[in-house]
Amino acid sequence: MNTAERTLNVALVNMPWSRLDAPSIQCGLLKSIAAADGHCCEVHYPNLEFALLIGPEVYNSVSEMHAGRLHLLGEWLFSYAAFGEVTAEHEYFADFPEIAGIWRDLTGKGTDDLVTLRREGVPRFLREWADTVDWSAYDAVGFTSTFLQNAPSLALGRHLKERHPDLPLIYGGANFDGHMGIEYARHIDWIDYVVSGEADLAFPALLRALARREPVGIPGVHGRGCAQESTAISTPILRNLNTLPTPDYREYFSRMAQDDRSRILGGEPVKIPVEFSRGCWWGEKHHCTFCGLNALGMAYRSKSGDGAMADLELLLGQYPALHVDAVDNILDMKYFSSLCSDLAERHWDINLFFETKSNLSRAQLAMLRQAGVHRIQPGIESLSTNILELMRKGSNKLINIRLLKWARYYGITVFWNMLTGFPGETDADYKEQLDIIPALWHLQPPSGSGQIWLERFSPYYTDPSFHISNIRPRACYRHVYPQRMDHTEIAYFFDYDAPDIASGTAHSALDSAVEAWQKAWEGPPPRLIYQAAPGRITVIDQRTGTPRRAVLTGWRAAAYLACGEAPRTAERIHDELGHGCDSPGLHELESFLRGCLKAQILVEDRGKYLSLALPENPGW
Ligand code: SF4
Repeated sequence: MNTAERTLNVALVNMPWSRLDAPSIQCGLLKSIAAADGHCCEVHYPNLEFALLIGPEVYNSVSEMHAGRLHLLGEWLFSYAAFGEVTAEHEYFADFPEIAGIWRDLTGKGTDDLVTLRREGVPRFLREWADTVDWSAYDAVGFTSTFLQNAPSLALGRHLKERHPDLPLIYGGANFDGHMGIEYARHIDWIDYVVSGEADLAFPALLRALARREPVGIPGVHGRGCAQESTAISTPILRNLNTLPTPDYREYFSRMAQDDRSRILGGEPVKIPVEFSRGCWWGEKHHCTFCGLNALGMAYRSKSGDGAMADLELLLGQYPALHVDAVDNILDMKYFSSLCSDLAERHWDINLFFETKSNLSRAQLAMLRQAGVHRIQPGIESLSTNILELMRKGSNKLINIRLLKWARYYGITVFWNMLTGFPGETDADYKEQLDIIPALWHLQPPSGSGQIWLERFSPYYTDPSFHISNIRPRACYRHVYPQRMDHTEIAYFFDYDAPDIASGTAHSALDSAVEAWQKAWEGPPPRLIYQAAPGRITVIDQRTGTPRRAVLTGWRAAAYLACGEAPRTAERIHDELGHGCDSPGLHELESFLRGCLKAQILVEDRGKYLSLALPENPGW
């Protein structure tokens, strides 16, 4: 840094409803970036203190509530402090009658309590934060905002601006991507700067301009503090992730060390967030039709295997945690021959999480497990090939089942959901899934099922060829944000009309089947295994209360195993069996496969077969 420049004192703030069990990677990374430019930067975690105020269980329920995206309860609770009365509370409760039941289940209290929290508890909490931290010591304050953090971040910003009118307030994060950021900057008086898009280059450029007291004119940075309007909606994306420093999480871990961390986390372990890649290599080629992730930064970029390993080594060495969550949208496949193989050799007792594509082979899942990956989110979304094609997922029913099968074998927890409501789907697509689910009870059930949301930036939102019409901001926005703002510009979730969607009855039937599957996993998970011996296998079926077993010998055992690792056609299995005197004819083989289908120890799709039983012997 030029020594003539001022060194700035910068605060970064992580508001509710950010997760409690991890520090903010956005703040941690920007802190390191600012520090590399010579500035002093501190991260504040009001989210942790708010959780202690309302109770971590209530906090987690509100922040994790999937339907929260529909009623924005977490945002609504802070909108009064941010904007005053936007709509009357009874109107919100009338639009979202489920809120009363949700709050009663969470707290045992009525909506009066919710209103008191909104009108008194939250403003008091914000006043305390505004008064007890010496904000006058800072030259700028930055808020990171993703998911439900927006109204809370705006609310604290309002309090800070009232007390410190000259303190520059900077907003960024996914909630400020694209036109959303411009609209917030236009209508919210206390916002000085919005960084719309990736902040790795724009944030230090902004700090540099503030340090030099120069006029601010940075592409993708908007707001009343700018000397000139940026013509670029978003900041340019960072091409080389290897240039990024390792995030700094010290404030989060010191806060955890001050307290009995179980008061905040219960039994949950702390997760260290890492970011090894941005964008999506699949979405670059075939953007999944429902996906609004990555906004304008779909181009895939990743750190080198060595760079990713260096981050891991530093963070795991520095902080007392063994769980690491990659925030990447999709695992870089080149890590199988670099990062993963390197980790496998180190034998660290770590517990890694990655989002992946679902078409991972048995060998790749084994490699992940050896590398310490205990949890994955593979974007399964459906068990219907037709629906998966409609969503351009690049997978099919058997690829998804193969993933679940070998993940169970290697002890990898799979986080996945069933999605419904794709234009072009039919009731038959759901009937097919209902028929197959009982055969999959020994595999990990989805966390739930539900209709897709229409998300800004998704092909369903941007591409008129899907014939999605009457797109309008979800009703919740009108209860959270003032009418003077254009809600079509700030909303991320939209209501819509779509043609050709399967019936509500079909969707409900899937919901019930998923619930039954989840229930089957409440005790010891159901099992379907085989024991191998020379010339035979014994299939032991303990998926239901009526255990069964079958012994397959000779070519039948070989045929069953031949379609175990990956889906195979009958012809391919036949070829693999060879042409010895014991080998069956193709018709005889097909008849055997049909028998296995009937017994639900095999699944079929478009002429390919996959056996379902897992080897009893362990995966190591
Ligand atoms: S849903 Fe996942 S795989 Fe598909 S485009 Fe989005 S991030 Fe990529």
